[in-house]
Amino acid sequence: MCGRSTRRPTRASRGAEALSGLVRHLDAGGWALLAVSPLVGSFVGTVIRRLPDGEPLWRGRSRCESCGALLRPRDLMPLVSWGIAAGRCRHCGAELGWFYPAVEAATIALALISLAVDGGADAWLNWLLGCWLLALGWIDLRRGVLPDVLTLPLLAAGLVAAAWSPPELLDRALGAALGYIALRALALVYRRLRGREGLGGGDAKLFAACGAWVGASGLAGVVFGAATGALLAALCWRLAGRELRRDTELPFGPFLAAAAWIVWLAGPLPL
Ligand SMILES: [Zn+2]
Repeated sequence: MCGRSTRRPTRASRGAEALSGLVRHLDAGGWALLAVSPLVGSFVGTVIRRLPDGEPLWRGRSRCESCGALLRPRDLMPLVSWGIAAGRCRHCGAELGWFYPAVEAATIALALISLAVDGGADAWLNWLLGCWLLALGWIDLRRGVLPDVLTLPLLAAGLVAAAWSPPELLDRALGAALGYIALRALALVYRRLRGREGLGGGDAKLFAACGAWVGASGLAGVVFGAATGALLAALCWRLAGRELRRDTELPFGPFLAAAAWIVWLAGPLPL
């Protein structure tokens, strides 16, 4: 007779269980957040592609980039259209690429994490901040710029979000000021020592915006997380056999953005 084997749950099965538990307990607001996240993800993709070139954001993806065929609503449903057409244009068969589905999937993942951490309006705020940081980090990764038109409103929004609580507003205003000054000072020291630019002005503005959300008390966690992430990325780069020279440019924005969101969700480093 063979006894029932007691199999230990794998990490994947535990993750699936946690996910189904989360979805089972969602309220109407949570479902609404999950429903809008791929649509907003599609818009975030448009922002990432067009904003650095100053192209209009409100004109939809109206034509196939390969054959110029007019795209209809059925071609533009986030993730669904891409899945049905197996990632190819219905007219010319050209590959559509993974960019839009990846951004849409990322915004859904941000929504699920936001809902796992908080409920109600807090989950929406977590998610909006995550989407904004996603756009900034992805633009820096693709183009090596952090547009002021995204960083400065993010800074202002961080202060407005705390306007109801003077002590929190003070902490966040201090975080924004310290964040900007710290990275500008670091960039100055780097330029003096190395004779070239190491950190762009956009990084300082993004760090200031991070400070306006996580407050002065959260800045250390953001720096620690971003630096650790950048070092790990450099290590992976080397392990993949790519050359890493002293003047290789590694955008810092994606690491700052990711670390800021983690500190926003998890709180400052326990010092
Ligand atoms: Zn086409």
